[in-house]
Amino acid sequence: MAGVGGSGADKRLLIVGWDGADWDILNDLSARGCLPHISSLIESGARGVLQSVIPSHSWAAWPTFLTGEDPPGHGVFDFVERDPARPGMRLPVTSASIKAPTFLEYLSEAGREVRVGNVPVAYPPIPVNGKMISGVAVPPGGEFVHPLDWAPELERRAPFPVNGLEWMNYEHDPESLLEEARQLIEQRTASFEVLLEGDWDTAACIYVEPDRLQHAFGAYLLPSHPDHEKLAASKLGESLRDVYRLLDACTERLVRAAGPETAVILMSDHGFRPITRQLDLNRLLKHLGFASGARSATATTALRRSSAARLLKRTKVAAPLRRKVKMPSTLDWSRTRAYKATTGGGLSLNLKGREPHGIVEPHDYEKVRSELSAALLEYVDPESGERPIAETFARESLYEGPFLHLAPDLFVKAGELWGMSSSSQGDGLSSYTRWPTGRHRRAGIIVAHGPHVAPGDLGVRHLRDIAPTALAFHGLRAPSSAGSPIQEISGSSGHEVTVSPIRDSRRQSELTNEEQQQITDHLRDLGYIE
Ligand SMILES: [Zn+2]
Repeated sequence: MAGVGGSGADKRLLIVGWDGADWDILNDLSARGCLPHISSLIESGARGVLQSVIPSHSWAAWPTFLTGEDPPGHGVFDFVERDPARPGMRLPVTSASIKAPTFLEYLSEAGREVRVGNVPVAYPPIPVNGKMISGVAVPPGGEFVHPLDWAPELERRAPFPVNGLEWMNYEHDPESLLEEARQLIEQRTASFEVLLEGDWDTAACIYVEPDRLQHAFGAYLLPSHPDHEKLAASKLGESLRDVYRLLDACTERLVRAAGPETAVILMSDHGFRPITRQLDLNRLLKHLGFASGARSATATTALRRSSAARLLKRTKVAAPLRRKVKMPSTLDWSRTRAYKATTGGGLSLNLKGREPHGIVEPHDYEKVRSELSAALLEYVDPESGERPIAETFARESLYEGPFLHLAPDLFVKAGELWGMSSSSQGDGLSSYTRWPTGRHRRAGIIVAHGPHVAPGDLGVRHLRDIAPTALAFHGLRAPSSAGSPIQEISGSSGHEVTVSPIRDSRRQSELTNEEQQQITDHLRDLGYIE
C-alpha cells in the first residue's frame, strides 16, 4: 500500500457517509430488520452521536467534515457565496469557496493515496493524490472527475450520475422519486467499486439519498412524527424501507471492496427531525416590523423565478462582470433592519457601513439584535398557539474563527415539529406541511468498526473531529484544527507527525454564468434556496 514511513503507514480507512442519517431513523429500521449489515457493524463496533455545525445544513457541514474546522474556520455558511457587502448575491458555493485545507490535501501532501466519491460541495474536484469524483452540485457537462484522464475509464465501466433527486418536484409522484433513488444508489455503488480498486490509504464515499428522502418522507421514517405509525404501515412506507435495505447492502459492498483489514467509519453530516408546520421567516420579519417588502414584491418574486432566471441563462457576461451578477431583491432596504441571510435560520442586520444600503447604526447593533431575538422568541403562531422559534444564538456565542465576519449575526433554532421555509403555502406566516415533513437537526450518527477500533459507546463527538481522526489514523496531524482525533478510531500513538501547512491547491471556480444558473436551479429544486 502507498504511503511514507511512520506509524499507520499500512493502515486503511474507509469513510462511508449517509447524508442526513439519524439514530431515530436507523434504530427504527434496524428493529424492523432492514439494516442487517449496518446492525452487525454496530454490534461489533463503536457507535455515537456526531454533532453537526450551526447552521446544520449540508453546505456548511461537508466543508467541516473536509477541513476539521467550524464554519468560521472554512467560511461556508450557505448554499450561495455569502458576503454581507452583497446580500443579494446568488453565486453558488463550490470547492473553491472552502477557505481551509482539507484532510484529503494533507494526506496527499504526505504521500498517502486517497479515493473520494461524491462528497458534496467538492466540485470542481480537489486535485488529490489519487482519484476523486465530485459531489453535488455539478453543472451539466462539468469535469467532475480527478484525474481527468481517469474519466473515460469510469464512464466506460460505471458511469457516475451527478446531482438528481430534486425532491421538491415529486409530491404527486413519490414512487418515481424512490425509483430514482434506487437507480442512483445502484449506479453510484458501481462507480465507487471502480474507485476503490487498487492501492489506497483513505477513502470517503458519500450517499446523499437519505437526506433527500428524509426531507420528502420524514413522516414515514421518523417515529416522533405524529402520523408516523399510519404512514410507515403504508405501501409507500414499505417501498421507502426497500431503499434503505438497498443502501445497507451497497454499504456492505463498499466494505467488502475495501478489504477485511480496513477500518470503517459510517457517519452523517447532520441528523433529521420531523416537522408538521413551516414558518416563513421573511414574512415574520416583516410582520414584526424588522423588514419591509419592495413595492412589487410578489411580481419581483415571480420575475426572479421565471424571466429573470431565463434571461440570466442566455446572457453571456464578461468574466469580470460575472461576480457582480445578482438576483433582484424582494426587500426595501431603506426600511429593513434585519433580513434572512442564510438557509438554516441565519439572520443578519442591515448594518450601516457593512451592507450596501445599511440603515442600522453600528452603535445600535447590540440593541437591535437583542430586540430582534426577543421578538422572535416571544412570537406565538396564532393558528397553533405555539412558539415556532425555540432558541436564538448570537454568532460570537457559538464560534470564533477567521471568517466569523461572513456569518449571519443571529442564528435561530426552530421549535419541535417546526420548520422554517420561505415557500410555506398560502399567505399566512405559517402553514401545515405534508411535503416536506423532515428537516435537519444537529445530532447525526457515527459508527466505527475495524481491527484497530475499540468497540463501545463513543458518546457525543463532533463532525469537525473526522478530519483530524483520519489524519491521526495515519500518524499525521494538521498544523491547526478545531476538531480533535477520536482516539477509539485513530489509535492513541501520541506520536503524530505534524504536516506542513499547504497552500490552497484548489482550482478557482471558473463557472460560466450558465453553469452558475444550472447549479442554482438544482439547489432550488432541492429546497435549499429560494
Ligand atoms: Zn446533509
